[in-house]
Amino acid sequence: MSAIDSLPPLREVIDTHQLLARKSLGQNFLLDLNLTSKIARQAGDLSKCDVLEIGPGPGGLTRGLLAEGARRVLAVEKDSRCMPALAEIAEAYPGRLELINGDALDVDPLAHLTPPVRIAANLPYNVGTELLVRWLTPKDWPPFWQSLTLMFQREVAERIVAQPGTKAYGRLALLAQWRADARIVLSLPPEAFSPPPKVHSAVVHITALEQPRFPADAATLSRVIAAGFNQRRKMLRASLKSVAPGIEDHLQAAGIAPTERAEQVSLEEFCALARSIKPLD
Ligand code: SAM
Repeated sequence: MSAIDSLPPLREVIDTHQLLARKSLGQNFLLDLNLTSKIARQAGDLSKCDVLEIGPGPGGLTRGLLAEGARRVLAVEKDSRCMPALAEIAEAYPGRLELINGDALDVDPLAHLTPPVRIAANLPYNVGTELLVRWLTPKDWPPFWQSLTLMFQREVAERIVAQPGTKAYGRLALLAQWRADARIVLSLPPEAFSPPPKVHSAVVHITALEQPRFPADAATLSRVIAAGFNQRRKMLRASLKSVAPGIEDHLQAAGIAPTERAEQVSLEEFCALARSIKPLD
């Protein structure tokens, strides 16, 4: 018996279903159910929420989310070998766990979930950043999710919460911090996983704001940031030359020195620049 539910310990589940971890699927499993419950608790009050989990694997975090009271969990797993183990969890929590055997990049979560929705996942490293960028750049804001509680490689987590003037600062920090609060809530050493990855990991908790922190047109802001950081060593007047005619005037209007480099420019300044390039109605 494990501490949080009446299902077998995860090591036993992995042995029973012969879930030898596959590198190609980014499989580094969490086997300590106390730890997965702790991660689930970082996601906030789950009792009134549906939760989307990507990559449940043998189900450690899934069990944590259910034991912590999630109203419903939709778990999307690409590896069909995991489905029998996950079906046993669904049986233990009748009506609260829906399983999809498929690629998270192809699933429309809103076809299965009722808002409010929180997302929690120990993400596969190969698709983690792509999913995060998708969740941070929906067509409309506020997005369908209230919060994201996500495990990343420590280096990616640091890029999400980075501040100007640091090496980690870039597109991911600006995207995350423009319309959300982002903080690192847990750090995990490689030994927390089986098999242990080469790098340290961290859980980031991201909460959607109702409104962007500073007004700006999303597409213009995104272009300016991409151009600025594509050539992060260049001065902005050079790296942004192709974004809009008369870029020096726009930089001046935003209060940014044309000789500045992207990594010195704050979110507020990037938003002012985007507004100058495309005045808001
Ligand atoms: N959540 C489990 C845990 O914490 O032990 C497993 C985490 S493991 C880092 C990532 C999981 O994502 C694996 O089970 C893997 O099969 C799954 N996965 C990889 N790519 C996926 C994709 N495109 N869509 C859905 N699941 C995927």
